[in-house]
Amino acid sequence: MKEFPGAGGLILNEPLLWEQGRRGRSGYSLPRPDVARAEPPAELAGEGPDFPDLSEAEVVRHYIRLSQWNFSVDAGFYPLGSCTMKYNPKTNERQASRPGFAGAHPLLPAALCQGALELMAALECLLAEITGMDAVTLQPAAGAQGELAGMLIFHAYHRQQGRPRSKIIVPDTAHGTNPASAALCGYTAVPVASNERGVISPEAVASVMDAETAGIMVTNPNTLGLFEENIRAVAEIVHGRGGLVYGDGANMNAVLGQVHMGEIGVDVLHLNLHKTFSTPHGGGGPGAGPVCVRRRLEPFLPVPRVRYADGVYTFSDDYPLSIGKLQAFWGNMGNLVRAYSYILSLGAANLKRASQLAVLAANYIKERLKGVYHLPYDRPCMHECVFSDKLQQAHRVSTLDIAKRLMDYGYHPPTIYFPLVVPGAIMIEPTETESKETIDRFIEAMQAIAAEAEQSPDTLHQAPTRCRRRRLDETAAARKPRLTG
Ligand SMILES: *Cc1c(COP(=O)(O)O)cnc(C)c1O
Repeated sequence: MKEFPGAGGLILNEPLLWEQGRRGRSGYSLPRPDVARAEPPAELAGEGPDFPDLSEAEVVRHYIRLSQWNFSVDAGFYPLGSCTMKYNPKTNERQASRPGFAGAHPLLPAALCQGALELMAALECLLAEITGMDAVTLQPAAGAQGELAGMLIFHAYHRQQGRPRSKIIVPDTAHGTNPASAALCGYTAVPVASNERGVISPEAVASVMDAETAGIMVTNPNTLGLFEENIRAVAEIVHGRGGLVYGDGANMNAVLGQVHMGEIGVDVLHLNLHKTFSTPHGGGGPGAGPVCVRRRLEPFLPVPRVRYADGVYTFSDDYPLSIGKLQAFWGNMGNLVRAYSYILSLGAANLKRASQLAVLAANYIKERLKGVYHLPYDRPCMHECVFSDKLQQAHRVSTLDIAKRLMDYGYHPPTIYFPLVVPGAIMIEPTETESKETIDRFIEAMQAIAAEAEQSPDTLHQAPTRCRRRRLDETAAARKPRLTG
């Protein structure tokens, strides 16, 4: 059968723009010129780039179509573990679009962007208050860049102490970016295994912490969704041997207003504004990974820093111990405005409540799916819960099959095969913004899939069957990519 655009019902198909284009077609019309046409200078003459000629309607439909093919948190439940795909209130988007922020050129002199600088200074204070840390930089463009900044700060600190060190302890429940950031900074990552409760044990850290070790990177809550309950004892061991403690706070959504990171021994902490603080993400857009430090590490923060004196905000490079500049300008301003707006519109009590609800939602899913799916660590979780495909393996059904089948039910799959400490992991993070009804429907879908695994495993092997595309050959896609569509 010839393929008509409506082959997928109202999910319309379309060819590539290059195949749609027709010579001479145009997306705009201008009045006929009343002056003579000038030929372009010789160096610009000849063929332009090979762009297709399209009408305005074709271009608009193309981009609207792409947006419809995309799954988003505005379209449906998106329980992608570790990613905090929560709904982002649109008012924060509106504040970030205000021309004074969105249109400000990054090279404006400070005198002409006092409002933007004031917002940055205020946001630094708010993030310090929320985390229980002393000073903040807003510069890093993502969580991983925050980690790199943290490692550079570790390095600068030890150099100042007169003894650079070469290793960093990274538990097996840390996020994958942690050892990568340590390595990028020239450190050797020393792994430590988590214990039977899914957390780090002080003994394991004590056995590897030595005078060559710059410190430890702790993801807390860790990638099993568990709070590192021994963090204080671990920090004491590391500090006692001259090291520093890095806290990966990308999962701050679980502990807003609950944990004073400074008091539990964290020296450097990054946050992901694009997870916890209302910047949409998932499509690779700009992020922000502010880094918070204790007072003694403040001199090492990146420059320029916002300073306030005599009623005026300025940028200052005057920090001789600084690790330097991390990116071309001052940070991703849109993310900063959204975070500021989010924090002020919720207020302290509601930020705390957001975390409580995120934790409640994850524990509710954990309790209701326990037994239907194997739960490797059966204890209260934080904002996410981790199952495995152990029970479904008996029917030759894997985590990948379960994830693909969820798409037929209309859900974005959870994070799968991560964390690595759980074979066949299914990591579910519901977030605080979903209603009980939505979560119940998702649980029913997961239960239905578990029943299918027993009764008709082939249905799962063939999933997805109701999506625009069937199951892709991921190996071939990686080895022999076809980039033209
Ligand atoms: C998402 C995440 C990161 C990395 O953040 P990016 O902004 O993607 O670089 C680091 N650690 C944890 C725990 C995360 O969840």
